Amino acid sequence: MCSQSTRCARLSPQSPLKWYKARCGIYDPADSLLMNMPNREAAPRQDVAPDRIIRALESAIPGDRIIQSSAIGAPVTVAPRDVNELAEVLRLASGERWRVIPCGAGTWLEMGNRPVEAHLHVSTAHMNRIIEYEPADLTATVEAGCTLADFNSVAFEHRQFIPLDPFGDARMTLGAVAATASAGTLRAGFGTPRDWIIGMRVVHADGRVTKAGGKVVKNVAGYDLCKLYTGSFGTLGVIAELSFKLRARPSEDRTILCEADDASTLGATVKRIPDSDLQPAAVEMFSPRAIGLEHISDANCVLALRFLAEPEAVKSQLVDLASIADAARLHEPHDDEAMEMQRLYRANETAAHWGYSLRISVLPADLGAMLADLERILPRAGAVCAHAANGIIRVFADAAWLDGLKTAQRPRRLAELRAAAQSRGGQMVIIRAPDEIRAHLDVWGEVGDASRWMREIKEKFDPQAILNPGRFVAGI
Ligand SMILES: Cc1cc2nc3c(=O)[nH]c(=O)nc-3n(C[C@H](O)[C@H](O)[C@H](O)COP(=O)(O)OP(=O)(O)OC[C@H]3O[C@@H](n4cnc5c(N)ncnc54)[C@H](O)[C@@H]3O)c2cc1C
Repeated sequence: MCSQSTRCARLSPQSPLKWYKARCGIYDPADSLLMNMPNREAAPRQDVAPDRIIRALESAIPGDRIIQSSAIGAPVTVAPRDVNELAEVLRLASGERWRVIPCGAGTWLEMGNRPVEAHLHVSTAHMNRIIEYEPADLTATVEAGCTLADFNSVAFEHRQFIPLDPFGDARMTLGAVAATASAGTLRAGFGTPRDWIIGMRVVHADGRVTKAGGKVVKNVAGYDLCKLYTGSFGTLGVIAELSFKLRARPSEDRTILCEADDASTLGATVKRIPDSDLQPAAVEMFSPRAIGLEHISDANCVLALRFLAEPEAVKSQLVDLASIADAARLHEPHDDEAMEMQRLYRANETAAHWGYSLRISVLPADLGAMLADLERILPRAGAVCAHAANGIIRVFADAAWLDGLKTAQRPRRLAELRAAAQSRGGQMVIIRAPDEIRAHLDVWGEVGDASRWMREIKEKFDPQAILNPGRFVAGI
């Protein structure tokens, strides 16, 4: 096996073609082998029979925590009931050199590159207690398997909430929301998990348990490791507990649709928001027809602004909105229509019929230009939506989208789209695509010099490459 430095040398571009491939995240078969390589000489085992894993687990924790699963991925799933059992499982896994896929409810395990090998799913689904909740302090600590929906329904009684609304299944666990840094439409007003997590307890690949941050809002001196674990896709450790700060839940929730015949009219409205007094919770741009919302608006393009605040604040913002969106037609759906709209909008994101789902991020100011690039390079997507205030474009298409192109052309065209985003300082992540595309194109794309640092961090946290090997950026 080659050393770390050899690997980096192989990945550094040496010819225009190599440069283009590296920049767009296209796998050269030789590079692909290197990218997916475990970080260390201590290669995990490839020959472990499920029965042997089960027997070893039974000697460490109660047998009812173990499920022999036939799901894609690892042949065995174990669901510990607390942090001590979780630590015991990881100690065993690292001693036996099993490859581990950490998971919560397991609803988004197809995201990222496929782990190169997997012996065991370690699920936090049965670690789902609320450990501490102090409404007066606006903080809470939960086990990682607690769902966002369950926690928010408890906090709702105190008119509080964790203001995150990632797309996906209601079973989504808070550990996974943190591990994937998942955020939905509310990111415009409230940010992402990194803004709300104040502490974590993490079980490392060798079973050691450490804490980062704490349970009070101002608690970090030096490096904030919570920020590192958040969004690391389970490659650095298994999150066992999380502490959150919370937000008071406002009493008014109103959505206004700004309708226009073209995206550029609405883009001009979005550009004016930062200089106005508007503080929308969500700013979403989409074509109602493309996602089955034509009964709510038949405009070509709609900007939905959601205001979540106290009634007086919402009222004055609606007056301001009318002045900055003067070129658009404003329309307020009824409460039940607005709820139905949210439901359909979210369902679109996770609909099983989409063969392709891409996420392109650029600066908000470049949103219009990036939409034009998309139309030029890969027109006729099924639906295009945007977190417009954050410069995030979400593209959906059915599996036959690129059938008009020759097979070899398909990944290249997607790579061209990725290069267009990168030329604007942005990135394109492939959330869903047919296997033949994923075989040629790294789903994350190339991250340049950052890949060296990321591999070094992985090496320090998980030297045997036990956790989710190969799933994340730069093959870590
Ligand atoms: C179809 C679909 C589309 C989605 N689209 C988006 C989107 O566009 N934007 C967005 O932000 N989110 C998106 N999500 C993600 C979603 O919001 C949640 O992050 C996800 O559903 C988490 O649920 P889970 O418990 O089933 O996670 P799982 O599927 O169990 O795990 C997801 C990932 O997190 C890791 N992980 C889980 N738990 C832990 C832990 N305790 N410690 C360390 N690593 C862990 C896993 O290894 C895996 O890589 C989508 C989800 C689905 C199902």
